[in-house]
Amino acid sequence: MNDFLSIQSLLKSHNITGRYVHVKTISSLLTSFDATQIGESVEKRPIHSIDMGNGPIKILMWSQMHGNESTATKGLLDALSYLKQKPSLLELFTLRIIPILNPDGAAAYTRVNANDIDLNRDAVNKTQPESKLLIETYQAFNPHYCFNMHDQRTIFGVNDFPCMLSFLAPAADMAKTITAARKSAMGVIGYIQKTLQPHISNQVGRYDDSFNPNCMGDYFMAKGTPTLLFEAGQVEQDYAREKTRKWFAFSVLEALKCISLNLHIPSIYLDIPQVEKSFVDVLILNLRYEGKLIDVALQYVEELKDAEIHFVPIIYRMGKLDSLQGHKKLDASSQTFTFSNKILEDSNAVWLADMLNLTQYSH
Ligand SMILES: [Zn+2]
Repeated sequence: MNDFLSIQSLLKSHNITGRYVHVKTISSLLTSFDATQIGESVEKRPIHSIDMGNGPIKILMWSQMHGNESTATKGLLDALSYLKQKPSLLELFTLRIIPILNPDGAAAYTRVNANDIDLNRDAVNKTQPESKLLIETYQAFNPHYCFNMHDQRTIFGVNDFPCMLSFLAPAADMAKTITAARKSAMGVIGYIQKTLQPHISNQVGRYDDSFNPNCMGDYFMAKGTPTLLFEAGQVEQDYAREKTRKWFAFSVLEALKCISLNLHIPSIYLDIPQVEKSFVDVLILNLRYEGKLIDVALQYVEELKDAEIHFVPIIYRMGKLDSLQGHKKLDASSQTFTFSNKILEDSNAVWLADMLNLTQYSH
C-alpha cells in the first residue's frame, strides 16, 4: 500500500484534523459516501453506516464506540477515501462501516454514551440503543470479519518505545482457546505487523487478551466471527495523532489486502510484544523540591472547550520514576527556581508546565 502513503495527504478526508471529531465534522464526507442513517443515539443524534463494494467477503467495521477516540475514525475515513479512488481493491468485498457509533460521546468528547455507559461493556446486557444497533447490524449483515476501532491512552509503550498502534485478536472464551475465528484474526494481524515493520518497527504492540464477554470483540469472536481490535496510540508530541492516523489507515488497507489474497500469518502473532503501561506524557527528572531531588510525571487531561480539545497537565506521580518513559522527558537538575512548601501537592500542574516552558496542546 505504498501507493496509499504517497497520496494520503491529498485525500478528501484530510480536511478533518485534530482530536474533536463528531457527526457534524464528518457530515460532508457522509454525504459523499452516500451514508444512510441506521439508527439514533440516546440524545437522538443520527448513527450512519456507509456501504462499499458488492463482493462476497463481508466486513463490518465500526469506530468511535468510545466517543473521544477519534484517530481511528480519521484513519478509517482516509482508508475509505482511498478505496473510493481505487475501486478495484473492493472487488472481493462488501464493507459495512459505522464511522461514529457513539455520536453523543463524540459530541461531548467522552468515552461513554449519554447514559454514562461504556458501550464496550454492554455486549451481553444490550441496555443502550447504540450497542443494540451494533449487534442488530451484525446479525442482519452476518459478516465474515469485524474490525473494531479505537484509540488507546498515552500510557502505552512496547519495549520502552511509544506504542503507535496495537492490535488484538480477542479471546473467545476464558481459556483463550485459539478457535478457527481467532486464528484467522491472528493471521491478519500477523500480516499487518509484517507490513508495518519496515515503517514503524518497535512501535506496534499486542493488546491484553483476557476474556471479557461484555466486550464487543470478545462477543463477536465467541459467535465465531474473526474480529480484529485496532488501537491508535500516542507517539512523542503528535497530540493531534496525525502521524498515527496515516499508519492506522495503512493497517486497515493491508488487512483488506491480506484477507483478499489469503496472506494470513498467524505464526507471528504471539511474537508481537505485549503493550505495557510504561509511558507518561511528561517525565521531569531531578526536580529540586524541599531540599531533595524528585521525579515528577505529568499526564494531560483532555478537556473540551470552545470546540477544541485542550491538554491540561496534572501531576500524576512523584518519587523515583526513572523506570518510566515519557513522550517528553526533561532533566530539571540545572533549574534553579524554588517552590514554596507542599506546592506539588496540588495536582493541577499548569503552573509547573509554564515554569518549565512545556508546550501545552490544543486540537
Ligand atoms: Zn476504546
